Amino acid sequence: MTERDLAERICLRVMKELSKPLIPIEASGRHVHLRRDDLDVLFGRGHKLTHRGDLSQPGQFSCEERVRVVGPKGEFSSVIILGPERPRTQIEISLTDANILGVNAPIRLSGDTFGTPGIRIVGPAGKVETDDGVIAAKRHIHMTLEDAASYGVRDGQIVSVKIYGERGTTFHDVVLRVSPKFATYMHIDYDEANACAFTKGMMGFLEV
Ligand SMILES: [Zn+2]
Repeated sequence: MTERDLAERICLRVMKELSKPLIPIEASGRHVHLRRDDLDVLFGRGHKLTHRGDLSQPGQFSCEERVRVVGPKGEFSSVIILGPERPRTQIEISLTDANILGVNAPIRLSGDTFGTPGIRIVGPAGKVETDDGVIAAKRHIHMTLEDAASYGVRDGQIVSVKIYGERGTTFHDVVLRVSPKFATYMHIDYDEANACAFTKGMMGFLEV
């Protein structure tokens, strides 16, 4: 192969790589979603969550309120609550957090809490022992209908996301979630964020 052929081949490869869709990535720290009656117990009857800041997903927000999450082995104070209220209380932690707490958190998509372990949550007005709801969030991409159509992907599809950098990584088994209610972002937890030396504003290439 001549030098020119080689240069052309490399150039084509780079162009192919760069033509892949770029997905903005966000890292989610440990957090709790609360259902109404748990919120009543933890913060007092009728307590309304205090809006602190909007999240990337429309209608989702971080709250001023904090809780303590207590496991059999360890605990975390000052765990953030994400609003709005949910039909079921859900505690999203990393696998490192799960080790510290001493719970076996299965890797699940948000909302899929059947058969997951429960945990103790302590607020200023009381405490709850949840029956279930502890998960390590399965990595996923929220995507608009428009982006899904333009990238030729569909809801529920399993994709990979390649990240370049000092700790270049490809995340496999990423679940695509397509909804008109979403904005296009990939969500990873802090274990995954550290695995790719995540920095704010990082983007990944979508591979299907
Ligand atoms: Zn998410």
